[in-house]
Amino acid sequence: MARESFTITDGEAWVVLDSRGSETIEVTLYSGKVSATASAPSGKSRGSREAVPFPEGGAKQSVKIFTDSLRGRLVGRDPADQTGIDTLLKEVDGSENFSKIGGNLAYAVSACSVKLAAMLMQKPIWRHMADLSGLAPVYPIPLGNVLGGGAHAGEGAPDIQEFLVFPRRVRSVEEAVKVNVEVHRRLGKVLAKKVGGYGGGKGDEGAYAPPVDDEKALQAVKEASERLDVGFGLDVAASSLYDAYQKKYHYRNRGKHLTREQHMQHISELVERYGISYVEDPFEETDVEGFAELCRAFPKLLVCGDDLVVTRAELIRWASEKRAVRAVILKPNQVGTITDTVEAAKEAEKRGIVRVVSHRSGETCDSFLTHLAIGLGGKFIKAGVAGGERVAKANELLRIWYKAGGSISLQEADVI
Ligand code: PEP
Ligand code: MG
Repeated sequence: MARESFTITDGEAWVVLDSRGSETIEVTLYSGKVSATASAPSGKSRGSREAVPFPEGGAKQSVKIFTDSLRGRLVGRDPADQTGIDTLLKEVDGSENFSKIGGNLAYAVSACSVKLAAMLMQKPIWRHMADLSGLAPVYPIPLGNVLGGGAHAGEGAPDIQEFLVFPRRVRSVEEAVKVNVEVHRRLGKVLAKKVGGYGGGKGDEGAYAPPVDDEKALQAVKEASERLDVGFGLDVAASSLYDAYQKKYHYRNRGKHLTREQHMQHISELVERYGISYVEDPFEETDVEGFAELCRAFPKLLVCGDDLVVTRAELIRWASEKRAVRAVILKPNQVGTITDTVEAAKEAEKRGIVRVVSHRSGETCDSFLTHLAIGLGGKFIKAGVAGGERVAKANELLRIWYKAGGSISLQEADVI
Protein backbone atom coordinates (compact mmCIF):
# COMPACT_ATOMS: atom_id res chain seq x y z
CA MET A 1 0.00 0.00 0.00
CA ALA A 2 1.38 3.40 -0.98
CA ARG A 3 2.07 5.55 2.05
CA GLU A 4 0.56 8.98 2.57
CA SER A 5 2.90 11.73 1.44
CA PHE A 6 3.80 14.73 3.56
CA THR A 7 5.32 18.11 2.86
CA ILE A 8 7.84 20.35 4.57
CA THR A 9 6.24 23.80 4.61
CA ASP A 10 8.98 25.83 6.32
CA GLY A 11 12.19 25.61 8.32
CA GLU A 12 14.42 27.61 10.63
CA ALA A 13 17.98 27.24 11.89
CA TRP A 14 19.64 28.83 14.92
CA VAL A 15 22.98 28.92 16.65
CA VAL A 16 22.63 27.24 20.06
CA LEU A 17 25.20 26.07 22.63
CA ASP A 18 26.44 22.58 23.38
CA SER A 19 27.47 21.23 26.79
CA ARG A 20 30.92 22.84 26.45
CA GLY A 21 29.32 26.20 25.73
CA SER A 22 30.48 26.01 22.11
CA GLU A 23 28.26 27.09 19.26
CA THR A 24 26.32 24.46 17.35
CA ILE A 25 23.26 24.26 15.12
CA GLU A 26 19.61 23.65 15.86
CA VAL A 27 17.05 23.17 13.09
CA THR A 28 13.24 23.18 13.16
CA LEU A 29 11.21 21.86 10.24
CA TYR A 30 7.49 22.44 9.85
CA SER A 31 4.70 20.64 8.07
CA GLY A 32 1.77 22.97 8.60
CA LYS A 33 1.21 23.10 12.35
CA VAL A 34 3.39 20.07 13.05
CA SER A 35 7.05 20.76 13.79
CA ALA A 36 10.19 18.93 14.91
CA THR A 37 13.50 20.23 16.20
CA ALA A 38 16.96 18.65 16.21
CA SER A 39 20.37 19.89 17.28
CA ALA A 40 23.88 18.65 16.47
CA PRO A 41 26.59 17.55 18.91
CA SER A 42 30.30 18.29 18.42
CA GLY A 43 33.36 16.13 18.92
CA LYS A 44 36.73 17.19 20.29
CA SER A 45 38.85 14.10 19.59
CA ARG A 46 37.72 13.94 15.97
CA GLY A 47 38.92 11.59 13.25
CA SER A 48 40.57 13.28 10.29
CA ARG A 49 38.18 11.54 7.85
CA GLU A 50 35.07 12.92 9.55
CA ALA A 51 32.72 15.43 7.95
CA VAL A 52 33.86 19.00 8.66
CA PRO A 53 31.48 20.19 11.42
CA PHE A 54 31.25 23.83 10.35
CA PRO A 55 32.14 25.79 7.23
CA GLU A 56 34.51 28.73 7.34
CA GLY A 57 32.68 31.32 9.43
CA GLY A 58 31.44 28.70 11.92
CA ALA A 59 27.90 27.95 13.07
CA LYS A 60 26.63 31.40 12.04
CA GLN A 61 27.67 30.71 8.47
CA SER A 62 25.75 27.40 8.54
CA VAL A 63 22.64 29.32 9.64
CA LYS A 64 23.14 31.79 6.78
CA ILE A 65 23.49 28.95 4.28
CA PHE A 66 20.34 27.32 5.65
CA THR A 67 18.36 30.56 5.36
CA ASP A 68 19.72 31.62 1.97
CA SER A 69 19.84 28.37 0.06
CA LEU A 70 18.69 25.25 1.93
CA ARG A 71 15.38 26.30 3.41
CA GLY A 72 13.83 27.16 0.02
CA ARG A 73 14.88 23.81 -1.42
CA LEU A 74 13.55 21.85 1.56
CA VAL A 75 10.09 23.41 1.28
CA GLY A 76 7.83 21.13 -0.74
CA ARG A 77 9.93 18.03 0.01
CA ASP A 78 8.57 14.95 1.77
CA PRO A 79 10.32 14.48 5.15
CA ALA A 80 9.66 10.74 4.95
CA ASP A 81 11.79 10.60 1.80
CA GLN A 82 15.00 10.40 3.81
CA THR A 83 17.28 9.56 0.89
CA GLY A 84 15.79 12.50 -1.06
CA ILE A 85 16.47 14.90 1.83
CA ASP A 86 20.00 13.58 2.34
CA THR A 87 20.79 13.71 -1.38
CA LEU A 88 19.62 17.32 -1.43
CA LEU A 89 22.01 18.11 1.47
CA LYS A 90 24.90 16.67 -0.53
CA GLU A 91 23.87 18.58 -3.67
CA VAL A 92 23.67 21.91 -1.85
CA ASP A 93 27.05 21.24 -0.20
CA GLY A 94 28.85 19.94 -3.27
CA SER A 95 32.01 18.88 -1.40
CA GLU A 96 33.19 15.42 -0.31
CA ASN A 97 32.93 16.09 3.41
CA PHE A 98 30.29 18.78 4.02
CA SER A 99 32.97 21.43 4.26
CA LYS A 100 30.74 23.97 2.49
CA ILE A 101 27.59 23.77 4.61
CA GLY A 102 29.00 21.99 7.68
CA GLY A 103 28.41 18.39 8.79
CA ASN A 104 26.58 19.65 11.86
CA LEU A 105 24.01 21.52 9.77
CA ALA A 106 23.62 18.47 7.51
CA TYR A 107 23.12 16.20 10.53
CA ALA A 108 20.62 18.53 12.22
CA VAL A 109 18.48 18.76 9.04
CA SER A 110 18.74 15.02 8.41
CA ALA A 111 17.80 14.04 11.99
CA CYS A 112 15.04 16.66 12.08
CA SER A 113 13.50 15.19 8.96
CA VAL A 114 13.38 11.73 10.63
CA LYS A 115 11.64 13.25 13.66
CA LEU A 116 9.13 15.23 11.59
CA ALA A 117 8.27 12.23 9.41
CA ALA A 118 7.74 10.06 12.50
CA MET A 119 5.39 12.66 13.99
CA LEU A 120 3.42 12.96 10.78
CA MET A 121 3.16 9.18 10.48
CA GLN A 122 2.23 8.99 14.18
CA LYS A 123 4.96 6.47 14.84
CA PRO A 124 7.59 6.45 17.59
CA ILE A 125 10.86 7.88 16.22
CA TRP A 126 12.71 4.63 16.93
CA ARG A 127 10.10 2.73 14.90
CA HIS A 128 10.52 5.03 11.90
CA MET A 129 14.32 4.72 12.26
CA ALA A 130 14.03 0.91 12.28
CA ASP A 131 11.78 1.07 9.19
CA LEU A 132 14.38 3.25 7.45
CA SER A 133 17.26 0.93 8.36
CA GLY A 134 15.47 -2.39 7.95
CA LEU A 135 17.37 -3.57 11.06
CA ALA A 136 15.66 -5.25 14.01
CA PRO A 137 15.07 -2.72 16.82
CA VAL A 138 16.63 -3.56 20.21
CA TYR A 139 17.20 -1.88 23.56
CA PRO A 140 20.94 -1.14 23.54
CA ILE A 141 23.17 -1.78 26.54
CA PRO A 142 24.27 1.54 28.08
CA LEU A 143 28.05 1.91 27.84
CA GLY A 144 28.93 4.65 30.30
CA ASN A 145 32.03 6.78 30.67
CA VAL A 146 32.62 7.04 34.42
CA LEU A 147 36.22 8.31 34.50
CA GLY A 148 38.00 10.25 31.81
CA GLY A 149 41.16 11.95 30.70
CA GLY A 150 42.91 12.63 27.38
CA ALA A 151 41.43 15.36 25.20
CA HIS A 152 38.29 15.53 27.35
CA ALA A 153 39.97 16.61 30.60
CA GLY A 154 42.64 18.93 31.94
CA GLU A 155 46.27 18.34 32.82
CA GLY A 156 47.02 15.62 35.36
CA ALA A 157 44.04 13.44 34.37
CA PRO A 158 44.71 9.96 32.89
CA ASP A 159 46.17 9.62 29.39
CA ILE A 160 43.41 7.26 28.26
CA GLN A 161 40.33 9.25 27.26
CA GLU A 162 37.54 7.08 28.71
CA PHE A 163 37.10 4.37 31.32
CA LEU A 164 33.76 2.74 30.58
CA VAL A 165 31.40 0.35 32.33
CA PHE A 166 28.34 -1.56 31.16
CA PRO A 167 25.86 -3.94 32.81
CA ARG A 168 26.44 -7.56 31.83
CA ARG A 169 23.06 -9.14 32.50
CA VAL A 170 19.88 -7.25 33.20
CA ARG A 171 16.16 -7.93 33.12
CA SER A 172 15.08 -4.40 32.29
CA VAL A 173 16.22 -1.09 30.87
CA GLU A 174 15.65 0.46 34.31
CA GLU A 175 18.12 -1.96 35.85
CA ALA A 176 20.64 -1.37 33.05
CA VAL A 177 20.58 2.41 33.43
CA LYS A 178 20.81 2.20 37.22
CA VAL A 179 23.88 -0.06 37.25
CA ASN A 180 26.03 2.55 35.48
CA VAL A 181 24.72 5.34 37.70
CA GLU A 182 25.53 3.25 40.77
CA VAL A 183 29.14 2.72 39.62
CA HIS A 184 29.46 6.46 38.96
CA ARG A 185 28.06 7.34 42.40
CA ARG A 186 30.35 4.88 44.21
CA LEU A 187 33.33 6.02 42.14
CA GLY A 188 32.88 9.57 43.46
CA LYS A 189 33.29 8.22 46.98
CA VAL A 190 36.25 5.97 46.13
CA LEU A 191 38.10 8.88 44.51
CA ALA A 192 37.32 11.28 47.38
CA LYS A 193 38.90 8.75 49.75
CA LYS A 194 41.89 7.84 47.59
CA VAL A 195 42.96 10.98 45.76
CA GLY A 196 44.11 13.70 48.11
CA GLY A 197 43.03 17.24 47.18
CA TYR A 198 40.68 16.06 44.41
CA GLY A 199 37.44 18.01 44.57
CA GLY A 200 35.39 15.79 42.23
CA GLY A 201 36.08 17.75 39.02
CA LYS A 202 34.72 16.24 35.81
CA GLY A 203 35.65 16.16 32.14
CA ASP A 204 33.61 17.07 29.05
CA GLU A 205 31.35 14.02 29.22
CA GLY A 206 30.50 14.28 32.93
CA ALA A 207 32.99 11.56 33.89
CA TYR A 208 35.30 12.11 36.89
CA ALA A 209 38.67 13.50 35.83
CA PRO A 210 40.98 12.94 38.81
CA PRO A 211 44.77 13.50 38.76
CA VAL A 212 45.71 9.81 38.51
CA ASP A 213 47.38 7.61 35.92
CA ASP A 214 45.62 4.98 33.79
CA GLU A 215 46.39 2.17 36.20
CA LYS A 216 45.07 3.98 39.30
CA ALA A 217 42.00 5.04 37.32
CA LEU A 218 41.23 1.40 36.53
CA GLN A 219 41.81 0.34 40.13
CA ALA A 220 39.30 2.96 41.29
CA VAL A 221 36.70 1.92 38.69
CA LYS A 222 37.16 -1.73 39.71
CA GLU A 223 36.73 -0.90 43.39
CA ALA A 224 33.59 1.11 42.64
CA SER A 225 32.16 -1.86 40.71
CA GLU A 226 32.68 -4.48 43.41
CA ARG A 227 29.78 -6.93 43.69
CA LEU A 228 28.10 -5.41 40.63
CA ASP A 229 27.86 -7.48 37.44
CA VAL A 230 29.57 -5.04 35.10
CA GLY A 231 32.00 -5.24 32.21
CA PHE A 232 34.85 -2.78 31.63
CA GLY A 233 35.91 -0.84 28.58
CA LEU A 234 38.44 1.75 27.45
CA ASP A 235 38.38 4.41 24.76
CA VAL A 236 42.10 4.94 24.27
CA ALA A 237 41.40 7.59 21.58
CA ALA A 238 44.95 6.83 20.49
CA SER A 239 45.07 9.44 17.70
CA SER A 240 44.98 12.10 20.43
CA LEU A 241 48.05 10.51 22.09
CA TYR A 242 49.97 10.04 18.87
CA ASP A 243 52.93 12.20 17.98
CA ALA A 244 53.18 11.67 14.20
CA TYR A 245 56.56 13.42 14.02
CA GLN A 246 58.23 11.11 16.56
CA LYS A 247 55.99 8.16 15.58
CA LYS A 248 55.37 7.57 19.29
CA TYR A 249 52.48 7.71 21.73
CA HIS A 250 52.87 10.60 24.13
CA TYR A 251 51.63 9.72 27.61
CA ARG A 252 51.67 13.14 29.27
CA ASN A 253 50.50 11.94 32.67
CA ARG A 254 53.29 9.35 32.84
CA GLY A 255 55.78 11.71 31.22
CA LYS A 256 56.67 9.08 28.61
CA HIS A 257 56.82 8.64 24.86
CA LEU A 258 56.01 5.01 24.04
CA THR A 259 56.92 3.26 20.83
CA ARG A 260 54.12 1.43 19.02
CA GLU A 261 55.31 -1.86 20.58
CA GLN A 262 55.48 -0.39 24.11
CA HIS A 263 52.04 1.13 23.61
CA MET A 264 50.66 -2.25 22.49
CA GLN A 265 52.21 -3.82 25.57
CA HIS A 266 50.71 -1.21 27.90
CA ILE A 267 47.20 -1.67 26.46
CA SER A 268 47.56 -5.47 26.49
CA GLU A 269 48.65 -5.44 30.14
CA LEU A 270 45.67 -3.31 31.13
CA VAL A 271 43.30 -5.64 29.23
CA GLU A 272 44.71 -8.71 30.97
CA ARG A 273 45.11 -7.27 34.45
CA TYR A 274 41.69 -5.64 34.66
CA GLY A 275 39.59 -8.08 32.64
CA ILE A 276 38.69 -5.48 30.04
CA SER A 277 36.27 -6.59 27.34
CA TYR A 278 35.98 -3.49 25.09
CA VAL A 279 38.79 -1.32 23.69
CA GLU A 280 38.01 1.58 21.34
CA ASP A 281 40.63 3.19 19.10
CA PRO A 282 43.63 1.37 20.61
CA PHE A 283 45.90 2.70 17.84
CA GLU A 284 46.06 5.92 15.88
CA GLU A 285 43.61 6.19 13.00
CA THR A 286 45.93 5.05 10.19
CA ASP A 287 47.35 2.00 11.98
CA VAL A 288 44.75 -0.57 10.95
CA GLU A 289 47.38 -3.28 11.41
CA GLY A 290 47.69 -2.32 15.09
CA PHE A 291 43.95 -2.90 15.52
CA ALA A 292 44.30 -6.27 13.75
CA GLU A 293 47.21 -7.27 16.02
CA LEU A 294 45.14 -6.55 19.10
CA CYS A 295 42.26 -8.61 17.64
CA ARG A 296 44.66 -11.50 17.09
CA ALA A 297 46.16 -11.20 20.57
CA PHE A 298 42.72 -11.23 22.27
CA PRO A 299 40.26 -13.39 20.33
CA LYS A 300 37.25 -12.29 22.37
CA LEU A 301 38.08 -8.64 22.96
CA LEU A 302 35.65 -6.16 21.39
CA VAL A 303 38.17 -4.05 19.48
CA CYS A 304 36.15 -1.04 18.35
CA GLY A 305 36.89 1.48 15.59
CA ASP A 306 35.87 5.11 16.02
CA ASP A 307 38.38 7.50 14.38
CA LEU A 308 39.42 4.50 12.27
CA VAL A 309 36.09 4.20 10.43
CA VAL A 310 34.19 7.47 11.21
CA THR A 311 30.72 5.98 10.51
CA ARG A 312 31.56 5.35 6.85
CA ALA A 313 30.38 2.09 5.26
CA GLU A 314 33.43 1.86 2.96
CA LEU A 315 35.87 2.25 5.89
CA ILE A 316 33.94 -0.35 7.92
CA ARG A 317 34.28 -2.72 4.95
CA TRP A 318 38.02 -1.98 4.74
CA ALA A 319 38.60 -2.49 8.49
CA SER A 320 36.55 -5.67 8.45
CA GLU A 321 38.51 -7.09 5.50
CA LYS A 322 41.70 -6.37 7.46
CA ARG A 323 40.15 -8.22 10.44
CA ALA A 324 40.85 -5.12 12.49
CA VAL A 325 37.53 -4.51 14.30
CA ARG A 326 34.83 -6.48 16.09
CA ALA A 327 32.78 -3.36 16.86
CA VAL A 328 32.33 0.07 15.34
CA ILE A 329 31.20 3.41 16.69
CA LEU A 330 28.31 5.06 14.86
CA LYS A 331 28.23 8.84 15.36
CA PRO A 332 25.90 10.34 12.74
CA ASN A 333 27.55 13.74 12.58
CA GLN A 334 30.85 12.07 11.65
CA VAL A 335 29.33 11.34 8.26
CA GLY A 336 26.62 14.03 8.15
CA THR A 337 23.43 12.21 7.17
CA ILE A 338 21.09 9.58 8.54
CA THR A 339 21.13 7.73 5.20
CA ASP A 340 24.92 7.30 5.38
CA THR A 341 24.69 6.31 9.06
CA VAL A 342 22.17 3.62 8.09
CA GLU A 343 24.54 2.42 5.34
CA ALA A 344 27.34 2.15 7.93
CA ALA A 345 25.09 0.23 10.35
CA LYS A 346 23.98 -2.16 7.60
CA GLU A 347 27.57 -2.79 6.52
CA ALA A 348 28.45 -3.64 10.13
CA GLU A 349 25.43 -5.94 10.47
CA LYS A 350 26.33 -7.74 7.26
CA ARG A 351 29.83 -8.41 8.57
CA GLY A 352 28.81 -9.45 12.08
CA ILE A 353 30.32 -6.32 13.61
CA VAL A 354 28.81 -4.95 16.82
CA ARG A 355 27.18 -1.50 16.48
CA VAL A 356 27.95 1.04 19.22
CA VAL A 357 25.80 4.13 18.70
CA SER A 358 27.56 7.04 20.35
CA HIS A 359 27.23 10.58 21.65
CA ARG A 360 29.93 13.24 21.18
CA SER A 361 31.87 14.96 23.94
CA GLY A 362 29.98 18.20 23.22
CA GLU A 363 26.27 17.35 23.44
CA THR A 364 22.89 19.05 23.65
CA CYS A 365 19.82 17.72 25.46
CA ASP A 366 18.46 16.33 22.19
CA SER A 367 17.57 12.67 22.79
CA PHE A 368 17.36 11.55 19.15
CA LEU A 369 20.47 9.41 19.69
CA THR A 370 18.45 6.96 21.80
CA HIS A 371 15.93 6.42 18.98
CA LEU A 372 18.79 6.04 16.53
CA ALA A 373 20.47 3.39 18.71
CA ILE A 374 17.25 1.36 18.96
CA GLY A 375 16.41 1.75 15.28
CA LEU A 376 19.90 0.75 14.12
CA GLY A 377 19.84 -2.37 16.31
CA GLY A 378 22.76 -1.06 18.36
CA LYS A 379 24.23 -3.53 20.82
CA PHE A 380 25.45 -0.57 22.89
CA ILE A 381 24.54 3.06 23.34
CA LYS A 382 27.54 5.07 24.47
CA ALA A 383 25.99 8.17 25.97
CA GLY A 384 27.61 9.06 29.29
CA VAL A 385 26.27 8.67 32.79
CA ALA A 386 26.19 12.07 34.49
CA GLY A 387 25.13 15.55 33.36
CA GLY A 388 21.82 16.73 31.90
CA GLU A 389 22.82 16.25 28.26
CA ARG A 390 23.92 12.64 28.97
CA VAL A 391 20.98 11.78 31.24
CA ALA A 392 18.66 13.07 28.47
CA LYS A 393 19.58 9.98 26.44
CA ALA A 394 19.13 7.58 29.39
CA ASN A 395 15.79 9.15 30.29
CA GLU A 396 14.55 8.72 26.71
CA LEU A 397 15.58 5.05 26.90
CA LEU A 398 13.55 4.75 30.10
CA ARG A 399 10.51 6.49 28.54
CA ILE A 400 10.61 4.15 25.56
CA TRP A 401 10.92 1.16 27.90
CA TYR A 402 7.92 2.31 29.95
CA LYS A 403 5.84 2.70 26.79
CA ALA A 404 7.04 -0.13 24.55
CA GLY A 405 8.22 -2.61 27.24
CA GLY A 406 8.86 -6.12 25.96
CA SER A 407 7.83 -5.31 22.38
CA ILE A 408 11.51 -4.42 21.80
CA SER A 409 14.05 -7.04 22.82
CA LEU A 410 16.72 -6.49 25.46
CA GLN A 411 20.36 -6.97 24.49
CA GLU A 412 22.69 -9.20 26.45
CA ALA A 413 26.39 -8.53 26.78
CA ASP A 414 26.98 -12.07 25.55
CA VAL A 415 29.82 -11.07 23.25
CA ILE A 416 32.25 -10.92 26.14
C1 PEP B 1 34.98 9.55 21.39
O1 PEP B 1 36.15 9.65 21.03
O2 PEP B 1 34.43 8.46 21.40
C2 PEP B 1 34.22 10.76 21.74
C3 PEP B 1 32.96 10.67 22.16
O3 PEP B 1 34.88 11.92 21.65
P1 PEP B 1 34.56 13.14 20.69
O4 PEP B 1 33.09 13.35 20.69
O5 PEP B 1 35.31 14.27 21.35
O6 PEP B 1 35.08 12.77 19.35
MG1 MG C 1 36.11 7.28 20.64
